[in-house]
Amino acid sequence: MHLVMIGGSDAGISAALRARDLDPAADVTVVLEDAYPNFSICGIPYYVSGEVTHWRNLAHRTRGDLEAAGMRLRLDTTAQRIDVAGRKLLVSSAGGGEELLGYDKLIVGTGAVPVRPPITGLAGPEALGPDDGVHLLHSMGDTFAVMATLEQAAPASAVIVGGGYVGLEMADALTVRGLAVTQMEQLPEVLPTVDPELGALVHAELAGRGVQVLTGTTVQGISKASPGGAGRLEVQATVADGTAVTRAADMVLVVVGVRPDTALAAEAGATLGVRGAIVVDPGMRTGLPDVFAAGDCVITHHRLLGVTWLPLGTTAHKQGRVAGENAAGGNRQFAGSLGTQVVKIFDQAAARTGLRDHEAKAAGFDPVTIGSQADDHKAYYPGSHRITIRVTGDRGTGRLLGLQLFGHKDAEIAKRIDIAAAAIYAGLAVEAVSDLDLSYTPPLGSPWDAVQMGAQAWTRAIQRH
Ligand SMILES: Cc1cc2nc3c(=O)[nH]c(=O)nc-3n(C[C@H](O)[C@H](O)[C@H](O)COP(=O)(O)OP(=O)(O)OC[C@H]3O[C@@H](n4cnc5c(N)ncnc54)[C@H](O)[C@@H]3O)c2cc1C
Repeated sequence: MHLVMIGGSDAGISAALRARDLDPAADVTVVLEDAYPNFSICGIPYYVSGEVTHWRNLAHRTRGDLEAAGMRLRLDTTAQRIDVAGRKLLVSSAGGGEELLGYDKLIVGTGAVPVRPPITGLAGPEALGPDDGVHLLHSMGDTFAVMATLEQAAPASAVIVGGGYVGLEMADALTVRGLAVTQMEQLPEVLPTVDPELGALVHAELAGRGVQVLTGTTVQGISKASPGGAGRLEVQATVADGTAVTRAADMVLVVVGVRPDTALAAEAGATLGVRGAIVVDPGMRTGLPDVFAAGDCVITHHRLLGVTWLPLGTTAHKQGRVAGENAAGGNRQFAGSLGTQVVKIFDQAAARTGLRDHEAKAAGFDPVTIGSQADDHKAYYPGSHRITIRVTGDRGTGRLLGLQLFGHKDAEIAKRIDIAAAAIYAGLAVEAVSDLDLSYTPPLGSPWDAVQMGAQAWTRAIQRH
């Protein structure tokens, strides 16, 4: 049995590892267009900041580990065309040579590519790029280009276009490196994946660390600055009220999201769905014979929303594992995402799982969202931190639908959001969260965990109405 994976990141490698786990005799080939198999692109901001000291340390596993696990790696090799009927994959090497690889089962894990927004200066023959200090950020190649700008041009200032989680992590990283950072976000608040009440707390953390945050600000153009200007680039933007804003900077990072990379699968006849992602069933089957797909390039089955698109590393690992298992002859289903995510911004962290109020309403629930605060551990023990909590539950059934948290990075925000992720997965009511037998010792927690206090605040508010 010859299994071929296209893509050597979270989805492709997870699929390859799982297939080899289940069938140690399987012949597994991973085709990837760069030379960085199984690199944690989620760790890029921490390499840029200097906290991760060498790019090689970003590898989840080394090339040697992967080969020892029994997969053949075809680096610097691009999949060009899938011949579904003939079960063959046309690949080309960096040198331009072409080859047909036969397969029994194929897994497409081509991931996502960064969105290039309609900003003057980013497209066309005169487009500015890494040599000018203008960067997109997704791959290891992009990372090396950013590092070359930082090390060779020694920029003193940067504009980051985009206030989503990658933009925020990069604002943190570039500030740590000593750059003066301006963050421009077209929506009214940064981190629009959480409620504005929490986004405002993230905003305050950025501002407190010297990041100039311009919200409601749409970037229109990037150009080279005139000689003698404050930076080598100029960013032109418009504020919501129509006022023009111009900022000089030595480097510009455009991080406004990603889109699924689906051209290869679509050309082979795969159906595209939400946000142009490849349609798969929960077993990661594309509907094309013997072709599976997983990761950022596919739609996401969501436990509360049905089908959506939520590109996340955690999801790509799980979907890849399911695809690998099924390609090896198994019958596993992806259990569904809750969009659980967490981001660190300097010393704070923001996290969410499940649905926010407006998302729950759109999905047909009758949501109520209640905000509260609690300490991460008993306040009498030194070093406690306040956690801001927003619980969303369904008024009629009492079911827990979502949780958002903001607090100090030492306040176990990530693991606390995971309590709620587990509770929503299990279909628990908000009130039942209080019944969970969670751990307690004063330096680390409270008899009622912060998440339980948030749940009790929600129940109290509901009973009052
Ligand atoms: C800076 C940054 C930080 C992030 N932080 C987090 C985080 O904290 N938590 C989280 O859950 N997620 C995070 N993510 C998202 C996460 O990295 C992605 O969801 C995840 O990498 C998706 O994995 P994937 O395998 O589907 O695709 P990708 O990682 O996009 O990989 C696609 C692979 O396919 C290859 N490829 C594409 N086309 C071809 C072709 N034609 N032929 C051969 N090879 C091809 C590429 O070279 C690559 O190896 C972050 C992303 C970035 C960029």
